[in-house]
Amino acid sequence: MARRKKIKNNPGVQVLVGVIILCVIVFLGNLHDVNLLDSLGEVTQTDSLEKVDEGENNTTTVTNVDGELIIDYIDVGQGDSILIRQGDATMLIDGGTSECKDELLEFLDEKNIDKFEYIVGTHTHEDHIGSLDDVVNTYDFDTFLFPNTQATTKTFENLVLALQQKNKKFTAPEIGKEYSLGEARFQILAPNNSEYSSANNYSIVIKLTYGSNTFLFTGDAESLSEEEMLDKGFDLSADVLKIGHHGSTTSTSKDFLDAVSPKYAVISVGKDNIYNLPTKTTMEKLEQKNIPVYRTDEQGTIECISDGTNITFNVEPGSYAYMED
Ligand SMILES: [Zn+2]
Repeated sequence: MARRKKIKNNPGVQVLVGVIILCVIVFLGNLHDVNLLDSLGEVTQTDSLEKVDEGENNTTTVTNVDGELIIDYIDVGQGDSILIRQGDATMLIDGGTSECKDELLEFLDEKNIDKFEYIVGTHTHEDHIGSLDDVVNTYDFDTFLFPNTQATTKTFENLVLALQQKNKKFTAPEIGKEYSLGEARFQILAPNNSEYSSANNYSIVIKLTYGSNTFLFTGDAESLSEEEMLDKGFDLSADVLKIGHHGSTTSTSKDFLDAVSPKYAVISVGKDNIYNLPTKTTMEKLEQKNIPVYRTDEQGTIECISDGTNITFNVEPGSYAYMED
């Protein structure tokens, strides 16, 4: 008893005990903060995503990857077609117009594509699905993602017929659901509504993550869809942004571009196209932010490679030249 009393009364020991107690309080406080941030992150994520698979909803998780992600923004003239490969897994987003059929099939053949895990038709327009019937006739695939909409065009009918002949169906995109492509993962961020006056807004928007690199593919989604994605609270940030609607004024709204804050931009657009794309408005926004722009009308097919940390392109960036708005 006397001994304990002696220690208690020793000022040096009291200071030491005080310091230890303070350290423990600070440590526990930090632990609490970390836990709080974690749970807040989860809540935010869950709130902003619908139909999310449990345990796979954290878009910020960086997974270690071993290999390369190769993205080809294929020069299909005035249209979109993007081939994504990771290991043996492949995805094709859009297939350009019907006129580019031979070039597209030749390109896919050169890349030794065996089958596709995913084919995505972003929306019904001919410059996106024009050659997809030929792709369906030529290649096997697991899943064909297509928005819940249709068109009365011959192009759309041809695509539906091609699928029917293979006993396949469109799979409707599930917003927020996470899909895997080899070691890469992707989420669908749009469309967020079931009825739009512009077919462009049905565009399936995909955010792909490979290691710590991120890529956003926007189809022809216009500012209305961009606004809906912002309202949903999605993490839109991406290293590489495929500029919406071939650089038209209808897309790449200021708020959306700010939220994506891309390191690089890619524009899929035809040389001397009749639509006067890309526009001054879009090109000036990109130039003001000093975002290097790769464009198929100037550089042809653009190959972008990620090792999960670094992103490289096979060509130098293009110009900020525009057609009149
Ligand atoms: Zn288009």
